[in-house]
Amino acid sequence: HAKPLDIRHGDIHFHHVSFAYEDNLVLKEVDAHFHAGKTTAIVGPSGSGKTTLTQLISRFYDPTDGHITIDGTRIDEVTLSSLRSQIGVVSQDVVLFNGTIYDNIAYGQTQASFDDIRQAARVAYADSFIEELADGYEATVGERGVKLSGGQKQRISIARALLKDPSIILLDEATSALDTEAEKTIQAGLAELLQDRTTLVIAHRLSTIQNADHIIVLDEGRMIEQGTHRELLEKNGHYRRLYQSQFQQQVFS
Ligand code: ADP
Repeated sequence: HAKPLDIRHGDIHFHHVSFAYEDNLVLKEVDAHFHAGKTTAIVGPSGSGKTTLTQLISRFYDPTDGHITIDGTRIDEVTLSSLRSQIGVVSQDVVLFNGTIYDNIAYGQTQASFDDIRQAARVAYADSFIEELADGYEATVGERGVKLSGGQKQRISIARALLKDPSIILLDEATSALDTEAEKTIQAGLAELLQDRTTLVIAHRLSTIQNADHIIVLDEGRMIEQGTHRELLEKNGHYRRLYQSQFQQQVFS
C-alpha cells in the first residue's frame, strides 16, 4: 500500500534512530532534524557512523529501531522509487556503468535536453582529461573503459545530481582540498547544487563546515553535539577539540 512521496519542503527528522550491522550497533538513538533548504555538516571521527546515517535516508538500509520522516511522512511507507528520484547522492564511490561519461551524467534523465546535459556536465569537464574523453563520444568508463580517479567520479556525480534537480542532496565531500582552477569550478558547481536544497554533507573541508547552516557531531554512533560553528566553538567540547586537532591539515577525517 506504499504511496509515492512528494517532497514539498524536504524537512528530515530522525526519531530515535538506531542501526546495527549484524550485532555491531553503529548508530545509537539519534534524534536529529535536518532543516528544509539548509546545509547540515556531519562531522566526527572515522567510523563514527556518518556514512551509515546518510545511507538510511535513501533507504540503503532501514533503521533497526526508530524511524525517519520527510515532511512528516515515514520514508518506510512510501515507494522506494519516489523517494530515490528526489534524492541526489554525490560521492567518490558513485557507481558508473559502461558507457560514455556523457551518458553516465544523463543516466536516467530521459527528459533532459542536450543543452541541460551540457550545462550540467561543465562541472565534470573542469578536468581536461575528462573533457577529452567526453568529447570523444565513444569513451567508456567502468570495466571495459578508462579508470577514473575518485575526484573524477565525484565530478560526474555532481553533474548527474545537477541534472536530476533533487530536493535532497547527500554529499560525501572529496577529501582533497586542492585550490586549482578545476577545483574552483567544482566548488562553484557544488554551491549551485546545494542552493535551497536540504543537504547533508559529510564534510572534510574546513570551509564547508564553517559555512554550514548547522553542524552535528557524531561519536561512536551518538549525536553528541549540534549547533553552528560559532556555537560549537564556544561550547568548548568535542567539536572544539576536533577542530583544533584537525586545523593544521585544513581537512576533517
Ligand atoms: P564514518 O562514515 O563515520 O567513517 P561508517 O558509517 O562508515 O562511519 O561506519 C560506522 C561503523 O560501521 C564502522 O565501525 C564500520 O566499520 C561499520 N560499517 C560500515 N559499513 C559497514 C558494512 N557495510 N558492514 C558492516 N559494518 C559496516
